Amino acid sequence: MSRASLVLPCVFALCASTGAQRPPANPLAPFISVDDPVIALEHVEVIDGTGGPAKNDQTIMIDHGKIAAVGPSASVPIPAGAKSLDLTGRTVYPGLVGMHEHLFYSEPVSPTLQGLVGGELVDTAPRLYLAGGVTTARTTGSIEPYTDLNIKKDIDAGRVPGPELDVTGPYLEGAPPLIPQMHILTGPDDARTMVDYWVGEGVTSWKAYMHIAPADLKAAIAEVHAHGEKITGHLCSVGFTEAANMGIDNLEHGIAVDTEFSPGRKEGECPADAAAYLAQHVEMDSAPVETMIHTLVQKHVAVTSTLAVLDSIEPGHPPMAFMMRERDSLPPTSWSGTLTTRSIILEGAATSWRPALMKKEMQFERKFVEAGGLLMAGCDPTGYGAVLPGFGDERNLELLVQAGFTPEQAIRIATLNGAEYLGRADRIGTIAAGKQADLVVVNGSVTKDITAVERVETVFKHGVGFDSPRLIESVRGMVGLR
Ligand SMILES: [Zn+2]
Repeated sequence: MSRASLVLPCVFALCASTGAQRPPANPLAPFISVDDPVIALEHVEVIDGTGGPAKNDQTIMIDHGKIAAVGPSASVPIPAGAKSLDLTGRTVYPGLVGMHEHLFYSEPVSPTLQGLVGGELVDTAPRLYLAGGVTTARTTGSIEPYTDLNIKKDIDAGRVPGPELDVTGPYLEGAPPLIPQMHILTGPDDARTMVDYWVGEGVTSWKAYMHIAPADLKAAIAEVHAHGEKITGHLCSVGFTEAANMGIDNLEHGIAVDTEFSPGRKEGECPADAAAYLAQHVEMDSAPVETMIHTLVQKHVAVTSTLAVLDSIEPGHPPMAFMMRERDSLPPTSWSGTLTTRSIILEGAATSWRPALMKKEMQFERKFVEAGGLLMAGCDPTGYGAVLPGFGDERNLELLVQAGFTPEQAIRIATLNGAEYLGRADRIGTIAAGKQADLVVVNGSVTKDITAVERVETVFKHGVGFDSPRLIESVRGMVGLR
């Protein structure tokens, strides 16, 4: 008997027992807590994403994935047959639009390799983003672009839980690369070739990195724009003003990484001590800083706030209480490394300029917004365990409030502003009738206590309610492994 004839009957038997009689099980079912077609979220505090004041005792109607109505609970009619949820004591805000959300995490440091090595978080990152309320995410620099593109396909097809992804291409970097997995551009032609290839593969956004040559950045910006896409940068070899004049669309991290104020800086060079100099010597209300801010606003260059990362390198930050979920999400060996790094940072507290840098970054972000700049937010989960996907996005909201924004403004920065940048504000980013039902339900009043954003209960994506604690529990001890 041939091998094929042995195998085939078994295959057919399998088909007969499962395929024809039952619809295939929804692989997302273990994470879904509400999936009725019509849902009423009753008696909630609503922060709608526009920056306007929160409203108490509201009802949000969800109908087949869209927001059908929002208004006072006393006046919004609830149709017969709707699934009604009394959410007294909860706040609802729009699904976060995370603008700096990698799908990789730094692996433990190796003495034989220079710099970081990024390990792809195929399972854990998409789940933790969704658990933290992120329903749209730009990946802002890819280490494994094919993996990121495949994760997007799986999420879009409903095979795995996660946010809607805007996949960013591989980093556009010069020499020396910070991560050995990065390609080193050999010149403007190489930059154009790289952009063309990955746009063809499905990449929809771009990021230039710290050591890119100015001429390569210029070529990359033109090529990205020729494809109708946008490009951001975590720059060092090019200052903010120079990049704005070249036509870049967005800058990551804020003034904390702008090197243009370093004395003696040469064109195209990345000075090692720029952040320390800025923290100690550059005043945010000085004329050069104000001129830089004016240039960014005038040229419509958005800035992505990533305060959680700066926070993580400040001595004694973030609070240990905040880090308990990160402890549970990391493998025990990674967590012990996290504690070691934390204690090394703490030992240097007396001479650290990091708190001063954080203060200046917060001041810069307020001034940028006051001047009319588009400030967005993302968590940038790379580091030593203090900033993980989702949790870092929650921490950002807390830090934006510490920076002086109202909770409503902080939510807007993390929702509508990103949606506007992505050109999707007609569909996502606010709570309004007709919009996609991407909603975050947290336990507590966000306007009274911003740490309520850590208590996410349900995240609606296209009107399907995902159970946040279950998503977090499903990756326990796995972050960094897969
Ligand atoms: Zn990053």
